[in-house]
Amino acid sequence: MLKIRNLHAMIDGKEILRGINLDIKAGEIHAIMGPNGSGKSTLASVLTGNEAFEVVEGTVEFNGKDLLDLSPEDRAREGLFLSFQYPVEIPGVSMTNFMRTALNEQKKYRGEDVLSASDFLKLMRDRKNLVDIDSDLTNRSVNEGFSGGEKKKNEIFQMAMLDPKLAILDETDSGLDIDALRIVANGVNKLRRPDNATILITHYQRLLDYIIPDHVHVLYNGRIVKSAGKELAHKLEENGYDWIKKELVG
Ligand code: ADP
Ligand code: MG
Ligand code: MG
Repeated sequence: MLKIRNLHAMIDGKEILRGINLDIKAGEIHAIMGPNGSGKSTLASVLTGNEAFEVVEGTVEFNGKDLLDLSPEDRAREGLFLSFQYPVEIPGVSMTNFMRTALNEQKKYRGEDVLSASDFLKLMRDRKNLVDIDSDLTNRSVNEGFSGGEKKKNEIFQMAMLDPKLAILDETDSGLDIDALRIVANGVNKLRRPDNATILITHYQRLLDYIIPDHVHVLYNGRIVKSAGKELAHKLEENGYDWIKKELVG
């Protein structure tokens, strides 16, 4: 599904990603961990097409297409979803209208018929039940005045509606309480299918108690320096990152 080869990216003349290689297959959940400032959010931004970052080398293939050649909008319509570390508020636009527009744009791009009003509402009801979110949230303006937990719920709901092929969840440093963690975890687990995949970017092991990853990677200084199974997350929780830094110089 996703094939990253020797990806280098810069911002303000500084190289942040320094040769990323990563393969993600359908059905898999990958966790990307690593110390603050190692480039985790940068990787997410580069994949979703944030133009602040300049890709200077490397290739990214997404479902057989050259991802770096697509606009950010087309990447989303191809089925890439990024949950933001700091979600934006859109006053005056209800979640319902926001989702209808986003979904219809996706359908048009894919050459599918747009949903009728009643089919759209049916899908909303179905997805709301799946991720367990209350109706008053979807009637309010996008993220306006939402608490941290409500923003997370909302993101998971958006994800459930758009049904991405590859979801990237950048959870780092967001100080989620246990309820918000469970919301995110339940959503991800319920939406998991053999034909989609998820990248969880997380600073902490906690989330991985609720979502069991198939692969765990450590991003350090712009490179993936270690990859293993879920046990790696526990090892990092116990021992921090110093042993990895030592392995690198040693
Ligand atoms: P992580 O998500 O792993 O904590 P980031 O990808 O946010 O790391 O940041 C990696 C490095 O890139 C840091 O040194 C950070 O200061 C730098 N960086 C990120 N965004 C910007 C930006 N907009 N302008 C300048 N430097 C940035
Ligand atoms: Mg950070
Ligand atoms: Mg980050």
